[in-house]
Parts: sequence; C-alpha cells; structure tokens
Amino acid sequence: MNIVRKPEWLQKRINPAAHAEMEGLLGELRLHTVCQEARCPNITECFRERQATFLILGADCTRLCSFCNVTKKTPLPPDPGEPERVAEAVARLRLAHVVITSPTRDDLADGGAGHYAATVAAIRSASPATTVELLIPDFQGSVASLRTVAAASPAIIGHNLETVPRLYQIRAGADYGRSLAVLRTLKELAPEVKSKSGLMLGLGETENEVLQVMAELREAGCAYLSLGQYLAPSRSHHPVHEFVRPELFQRLREKGEAMGFAHVESGPYVRSSYHAAHYGEGV
Ligand code: SF4
Ligand code: SF4
Repeated sequence: MNIVRKPEWLQKRINPAAHAEMEGLLGELRLHTVCQEARCPNITECFRERQATFLILGADCTRLCSFCNVTKKTPLPPDPGEPERVAEAVARLRLAHVVITSPTRDDLADGGAGHYAATVAAIRSASPATTVELLIPDFQGSVASLRTVAAASPAIIGHNLETVPRLYQIRAGADYGRSLAVLRTLKELAPEVKSKSGLMLGLGETENEVLQVMAELREAGCAYLSLGQYLAPSRSHHPVHEFVRPELFQRLREKGEAMGFAHVESGPYVRSSYHAAHYGEGV
C-alpha cells in the first residue's frame, strides 16, 4: 500500500532561505551532510540550531537499501583532506556535539574505519570540547574495523538496526544478527563508549516485533535508542506502509525507558541524529 497523503502530525515545512549560510559553508569546504543527501525533513530546524550530520567518505554507497536516498554507484577513493575540512567546519560552526556518518564502503579493505578515526582525531585537535558521535555501517562485521573506531574514543558510537528482522529485505547486503553483533562487540571493545541504535517505523512491523528488537538491543548493551517515522524519499523508494500515530511513539518511549535505555528519542520526525546533543544530558 503506497500512502501518499500525510496526516496532520507530519506537516513540517522546509525553508531553504533559513539555512543558506550553513549550506554556503558546506559548499565552500566541499562537505556532504545526511541532512541534504537524505532530504531530511528536520533540515531547517537543525541547520537553524547549527546541528548537522556530516557524511564522510563520499555520497555514493556500495549497497542498495530500498528506503535510502543516497546514490548507489561506485564510490571515489577516500579524500585524505576530508577529516581536516570536517574539523574546520565543526570549529567554524562552534558545534558542541557533532554526528559523523558515511555510506557503506564495502569496496574499502577497512570499510572506511581508518577515515572515521582520522576524522575524530582532527575534530578533537581543532575543537577539544566538542563531543563526537559516530554512526557507523556494519563494516561487514569486521572486528578489526570496529576496534579502529572504538580506539578513536568518540563519546557515542551508533549503528542502526533500521527495522525488525522480518523486514530485512529492505537493507540489501545487511544481516540483522550481524548488526546486533556489531553493537555487542563495540560494547566489549569499549565499555565506556555509549552505544546507540535506531529503527524506522511504518514499514509494516508490529509493536511486539519492535519491543522484541528493543529487548535484544538492551541485551547487546545499547544505551540510546531513536524511533522515527519512515518517509519514502520518492515514489521509486520503498513505500510507506503506515503513518504511526504519536501515541504509539510515546508508548514505545515509555517502554524503552522501563527497559533501561538511558535515553529514547521517539516521535514521527525523529531521525537517529535528531536532538543528538540531548542524549547524554540525562545520564
Ligand atoms: Fe541532519 Fe539529523 Fe537534523 Fe536530519 S535530524 S537535519 S539528518 S542533523
Ligand atoms: Fe543508504 Fe546506508 Fe543503505 Fe547505503 S547502506 S543505501 S547509505 S542506508
């Protein structure tokens, strides 16, 4: 079922004029953001508050998730100057918290883990007070790559499960058990680094399936959780199955807190990096 008409709780407006300055800086430094690539509906709000999620390692992905707006073609080699330019942007924007992510780079021997670590080091050098959050791909389960990003000691490492195991055909090339193992391994490698995951709702999952995934995330030591509505980037992407009501998001937040998550961000417009700076506040 392809539902086109959005309910009244999903009517956020994008105002490009409000973030022209931020886009100018990103263009000058030749940087990509998920905010722009994914056409995130929160872009006006986040850019106004000087929050952004930087997309390192290019804007092309080696996988084909049917829900994602990142382009799918052979990516370019990593740009060795990129970590310094991200660090310059973080410093010029005076960000207190920054989220760094990338497309999946199955073409690289380390999946890009070394580039993540170099970016953390560059930000730490230029802006020592900025907390860094990494949102990583699964690195095909490579423990060596996970060790590399854990050793960089960001404040938070996230890896999104995205959906319940029954619907994993939308994550081409991914595996539910492997993604869960990524979070478990990170916790073993760096217990002091908070781990985080996220799910999109509205893809056809049931509430019980979501609760089961949440329980498994807690067993894997996951501290932070984001739950948001899936919105199809275009008619050629995976269709929205349902618009989840705000009451269910609220109920899942309460259940997640009762399960022991240190912070649950749950609502129709929540993305894994939405309100990212707020996660550590209550801990
Ligand atoms: Fe960017 Fe995340 Fe905000 Fe969306 S929610 S605009 S991806 S920082
Ligand atoms: Fe998008 Fe990540 Fe899937 Fe690549 S692996 S298509 S970046 S969601």
